[in-house]
Amino acid sequence: MYILMATPECAPVAKAGGLGDFVQGLSRELAAQGHQVEIILPKYDCLRYDRVEDMTLEHPDLWVPFFDRAVHCDVEVGLVDGLRCYFIDAHSEHGFFNRGAIYGDADDPDRFTFFSHAILEFLVASGRCPDIIHCNEWQTGLVPVLLFERYTALGLDKTRVCYSLHNLGHQGWTTPKVLEMNGLDVGRLMVPDRLQDPGNPQAVNLMKGGIVFSNFVTTVSPRYAWEIQHTDQGMGLQGVLRDQDRKFGGVLNGIDTTTWNPATDPFIATNYALEKLPGKAENKAALRERLGLVDTPKPIVAVVSRLDRQKGIDLIRHSIDYSLQQDAQFVLLGSAQEPAINAIFWDAKQSLADHPDAHLELGYDEELAHLIYAGADMIVIPSVYEPCGLTQMIAMRYGCVPIVRRVGGLADTVFDANYSDRPYEERNGYVFDELTFEGLESALGRAIGLWQQHPDHFRQLRLNGMRMDNSWARPAQDYLNIYQHIRVR
Ligand code: ADP
Repeated sequence: MYILMATPECAPVAKAGGLGDFVQGLSRELAAQGHQVEIILPKYDCLRYDRVEDMTLEHPDLWVPFFDRAVHCDVEVGLVDGLRCYFIDAHSEHGFFNRGAIYGDADDPDRFTFFSHAILEFLVASGRCPDIIHCNEWQTGLVPVLLFERYTALGLDKTRVCYSLHNLGHQGWTTPKVLEMNGLDVGRLMVPDRLQDPGNPQAVNLMKGGIVFSNFVTTVSPRYAWEIQHTDQGMGLQGVLRDQDRKFGGVLNGIDTTTWNPATDPFIATNYALEKLPGKAENKAALRERLGLVDTPKPIVAVVSRLDRQKGIDLIRHSIDYSLQQDAQFVLLGSAQEPAINAIFWDAKQSLADHPDAHLELGYDEELAHLIYAGADMIVIPSVYEPCGLTQMIAMRYGCVPIVRRVGGLADTVFDANYSDRPYEERNGYVFDELTFEGLESALGRAIGLWQQHPDHFRQLRLNGMRMDNSWARPAQDYLNIYQHIRVR
């Protein structure tokens, strides 16, 4: 099968969060199974060019419609970890992809609908006809709309779209101007069963467009699939998703087990595996040395996260004080976009500046993240909502025990050491329900207590987590079944 991944992110060249990992992991697994997989991304100025091999010009003269004129683009191609990746380079006076970051500008809907339009224009201009375009998030929600409204008639009549929702917190709410910009009929599309936002009749909802016009819609865990259809986590799209139930389902993400493998990871101090678990102690020592913590018989509690309200900011902040009170050490690696959140953690960092048992690292640091998973004993993930969450799966693979709130994919992957109805050998962490300090403490307190009082049992929890199969093999098969189901034979 010929599958094109249309995406604003792909690890390691353009990653802001789990979406980048999703595209990389799923694509690699599909390619390993013998499918033709290609990825298409904007050519951001902030791309990790050092991770792209053999970048060459693929299509020099692409003209993408933009209001009543067209913008000149080039399409380049390169290899990213062996996968063929196209990059759309837009030569517009708006500098659409030259903003120093992937997201975060007021005109993001313009930037990414332009990208969506460029994908289809490129396919037609270069005579490519994928069986499946796998679109992701609101940034590519206009792809199936444009495909259906215009490009099937221009030769893409055998292409079908699978659309994955990674986070309903961002739906691409914008004005009808983006439809005009892309030459689409506003009157035809700004209606309740097409792109009109359910909560605001003046607004275009690009994610809704993607849902309505795609052949199949997925989200990243079965529990989140239920939550967004039946609770306010659907953020206004509950009804739309219930209406589309016949073409909607949850597929639990995997993790890329090549990138995330303690037995081969080049970014950690000592490689280790199930049978060589003492290797973890050497990573713990290396982590302490790197972050200036004292060497002492205490567990290390960690957080590795975007510092966004979705991630449970108050509880993350509280986990620092609580861990120190419980005689544990604490490390945080986090990046905040919102100034108010940034300020909270800068204050905390300053007040703990000389603390022998705590270190806060504010920013994004891929390599340090690896060492934290390898060196820490437990990781706290107190999310308000969590579509899937890769952090807990990565942590488990490194023998780092997750403490999570029972939401979304966290509930699908972490099973409480004391209260789960799973067999003992499948229990792999600690789970709490209430989004309160007491809720967090009820789980984190048990985890720290087990480490301090029953190290053998704690070791067993680590091993249970390391034994779980969270690879992409099973989810990739689920996606292949979906592609087979919708493709034109
Ligand atoms: P989300 O996509 O909502 O950010 P996920 O748990 O799905 O959350 O994925 C998070 C990914 O981003 C993981 O690979 C994690 O290691 C990584 N990550 C998050 N914050 C940081 C950071 N500050 N520095 C390095 N990696 C980070």
